[in-house]
Amino acid sequence: MTETPDDQPDPRAQIRALKNHLESLARAGLDALPVDHAIDLAPRPRTHPPVARETQAEPVAQHASALVPPTTPVPQAERPIHSPQPQAPLGGSLLGSVGFELPVIPLDERGQALASLAAVVSTCRKCPHLADARTQTVFGVGSHSARLMFVGEAPGADEDRLGEPFVGRAGKLLTDMITKGMGLRREDVYIANILKCRPPDNRNPEPDEAANCVPYLERQIEVIRPEFLCLLGLVAVRYLLGGAQSMGRMRSRWHDYRGVRTMATYHPSYLLRNPSMKREAWVDLQMLMGAMGIEPPRRGSA
Ligand code: SF4
Repeated sequence: MTETPDDQPDPRAQIRALKNHLESLARAGLDALPVDHAIDLAPRPRTHPPVARETQAEPVAQHASALVPPTTPVPQAERPIHSPQPQAPLGGSLLGSVGFELPVIPLDERGQALASLAAVVSTCRKCPHLADARTQTVFGVGSHSARLMFVGEAPGADEDRLGEPFVGRAGKLLTDMITKGMGLRREDVYIANILKCRPPDNRNPEPDEAANCVPYLERQIEVIRPEFLCLLGLVAVRYLLGGAQSMGRMRSRWHDYRGVRTMATYHPSYLLRNPSMKREAWVDLQMLMGAMGIEPPRRGSA
């Protein structure tokens, strides 16, 4: 931030920062702020803090038991279009992404940005029928500097009760995919849904509900700025990428969401109902891991 000679913040820089912040919130569909919402315009260091390296999980004892053995070869045709990157630290990129108009939010400001958004979401009533029925909103969970963000569909009964996405049976499978399959910790990634409120009877989100809620998700993606998105199920595909193609046509290849390398795979709930499809999900995860430069955890390692 520009500072005046007497080391006082430049009012013009403060106005620019305020304008950027409000425009960012407006892009998320917000037209009001909680009364206790504070906008910190204090001078910032001229350089961003270093990206925190988030350590990978210790190798797990049982490898990918939720999916198929790691020795399953990835067909050549399904390998990533882009060359795998060298092993990289598990910190979200501070590099600007071409698809985002707003500047990258420094790591030390992302928590506040997400907390402010979560506060707004918690009182959202854009879908009155969903707001009336929910126990609470389910905002998202995980690292604010995640390289990888999973996007599911909507909270279920367990998520509505606990306020965290993917905590039921499907959540257990997703956690196994992340930990046993990819060798990461659940807290290394970020997990969110298309909708923040539970639809009745776990039905699919309606288009108007998704239209109301997706701006919140877009804002989460914009704040976290992941390098990779993994869309879980066709609902996430439909409302982030558009179109209504089958998962068979959408999976195992790269898509682009605002400059973020995006892939799609089966929703864990679908995999629970169709265990034979876990093999395909494992192929997708291997493709993702190859692009991220992640080696699968060793079989039998502790
Ligand atoms: S689903 Fe999203 S947009 Fe609709 S009421 Fe809940 S938080 Fe608001």
